[in-house]
Amino acid sequence: MNILQEFDTIAAIATPLGTGGVGVIRISGGRSFEITDKIFSKHNLEAGRIYHGWISDAEKKVDEVLVLPFKSPHSYTGEDVIEIHCHGGVNVVKNILSLVLKNGARTAERGEFTKRAFLNKKMDLSQAEAVADLIHAKTKSFALQSAKNLSGVLRDKITEIRGGIFDTLSKIIAGIDFPEDVLEPEYSYLIESFEKSLADIDRILSCAKSSNILRQGIKVAIVGRPNVGKSSLFNTLLNTNRAIVTDIAGTTRDVIKETLDMDVAVTLIDTAGIRDTDDVGKVEEIGIEYSKQSAHEADLIVFVYDASVGMTEEDKEIYALVKHKPHLKIVNKCDLIENRTEGEFYISTATGEGIDELKEQIKNKVCDFSLEDTEYITNERQVDCLEKCRESLTNALNAAKAGELQDLISIDLKSALLFLDEITGEVITDEILNNIFDHFCIGK
Ligand code: GDP
Repeated sequence: MNILQEFDTIAAIATPLGTGGVGVIRISGGRSFEITDKIFSKHNLEAGRIYHGWISDAEKKVDEVLVLPFKSPHSYTGEDVIEIHCHGGVNVVKNILSLVLKNGARTAERGEFTKRAFLNKKMDLSQAEAVADLIHAKTKSFALQSAKNLSGVLRDKITEIRGGIFDTLSKIIAGIDFPEDVLEPEYSYLIESFEKSLADIDRILSCAKSSNILRQGIKVAIVGRPNVGKSSLFNTLLNTNRAIVTDIAGTTRDVIKETLDMDVAVTLIDTAGIRDTDDVGKVEEIGIEYSKQSAHEADLIVFVYDASVGMTEEDKEIYALVKHKPHLKIVNKCDLIENRTEGEFYISTATGEGIDELKEQIKNKVCDFSLEDTEYITNERQVDCLEKCRESLTNALNAAKAGELQDLISIDLKSALLFLDEITGEVITDEILNNIFDHFCIGK
């Protein structure tokens, strides 16, 4: 059984504040049952049952609720936990939370429930981080990937690699400590063992770039002269009428952003087709400034020009600004022309021609990986630990190849183990821990 740490009792609203069917207030800590006893119509609650009754403030009825009691260690945090499921109105949940606080709990900090779950060994740090990923997932596919980590995929792999290194280290230490009885492991054995661990680490690291893209998504800027159809394309891609389309040049006055779930979260940026009719010179200046800015900000640029007009000097000027970045050059309004030039990418937001292909190309251009190949989802912190572990193991490998003293090799192996332990949170500083849980929301 786990040795649980002693904490005070915390409470928070666990569901988003808004109007909905159900709102949940969560209480965790040694006083959860005692506090609930003071405000709930039913008493002597047993874990594993659901109770229906009323929350009251003295004689005043506050809401009709369901109460779910959990007894330590069989709860999310590992502590005694009470969940109060009430009606999902902003002020209903606030009233109940106030009452819980008034009766002895304190407001939970960001991520404090999950932090307690980690400290009480209900999950390792990679799983706790997966909780944050899951909640914040911008796409359905990333939510599924995060669920995999929540189930412990990364933890299991790290534990397996750790086991291999630990085994080899034990053999080395046994050889050093008991030279009469135990033979030092062969150098060929050490080399083989380190190469295997390195290959495993490399496999996880090979998913780092795609992990990042899947977590953060990509930014795609639609760039071009006024009136070439940028806003129309933006709307077509989003299937909405978010940007206003008119045939008066310069309708899009601001940069508009909207995120699209294309397995990868694609944030489309409709840059200004800004045109100030009083001052054409200034317009071009602003247009160019925006194009430059987008070129800087975006991961991919979709440069658009008008098929019925052809590539004008202004088009060329804008294209020159963006062509050094990953980009797609698109000819819109192909419904208006008869003859097409070989090699150009024609679309029409009016007829829908080429739009599906454009979506495919946007994805392929930035994501040179397949979603199925992203076996492990990692974050920057984990990648950093893995790279440091890799460095220590490489030192150990080189030392083994050079036939150096095994005592020296064991030092590198010990540091490799520490870096792996940082990933799962076996070894961790308060600063790193607080940094991780600060990114959670209250109530999680
Ligand atoms: P923006 O200034 O680049 O954002 O251009 P808009 O999206 O506002 O479009 C300018 C005009 O071109 C509008 O009248 C649109 O209806 C029209 N337009 C956009 N795409 C197409 C297209 O594929 N074919 C045709 N025929 N007209 C289009």
